[in-house]
Amino acid sequence: MKNIVLFGPPGAGKGTQADKLVAKYGFNHISTGEVIRQQIKAETELGLSVKAYIERGELAPDSLVINIIADYVMNHTEGAGNIFDGFPRTTHQAEEFDKIMTANGQKVDAMIALTVPDEELIKRLLLRGQDSGRKDDADESVIRNRIDVYKAQTAIVADFYSAQNKYVEVNGVGSIDEIFDRLCAEIDKL
Ligand code: AMP
Repeated sequence: MKNIVLFGPPGAGKGTQADKLVAKYGFNHISTGEVIRQQIKAETELGLSVKAYIERGELAPDSLVINIIADYVMNHTEGAGNIFDGFPRTTHQAEEFDKIMTANGQKVDAMIALTVPDEELIKRLLLRGQDSGRKDDADESVIRNRIDVYKAQTAIVADFYSAQNKYVEVNGVGSIDEIFDRLCAEIDKL
């Protein structure tokens, strides 16, 4: 069983590639952003409590996403493996994630980061905003804020996995299939 953190800034292609990895390897997949968006849509208490953060392009509170992941891990301890997309996004989340994994007899095998230059990210997100219906993709200032938040709070999580020799980077520029092949080459080494 492989547990893989798919990492990278907003617009790096994590969701697109995660779907392809699920189809090829039979992994389960969780996107914390997707879970939060579903909760907002369903107007649950959790959804309403985080709506404002998401619309500003800020991170939701650690405790909230950690609870989402704890619940997911508890229910996904068997099978081909799991792709964690959009989590962990802070060092505190990464530390708590390790505890959750250990408590469930699991471990993170690798963090694979997709690297993409900023201007390419902004271009992709604005394009996605035209038909994704995601408010946080439609406004360039929110997009820039999400990229700034990534640099200020999230990029450092790479150090956490580097220190455990679990961090690899994959060039996230190219065709979807080219990037997918690069990812598969890394996953097949695990
Ligand atoms: P994403 O779909 O990964 O781009 O996430 C969309 C939004 O959901 C982010 O801008 C955050 O507001 C929130 N979010 C998703 N995952 C996390 C996380 N691990 N920690 C905090 N906020 C998150």
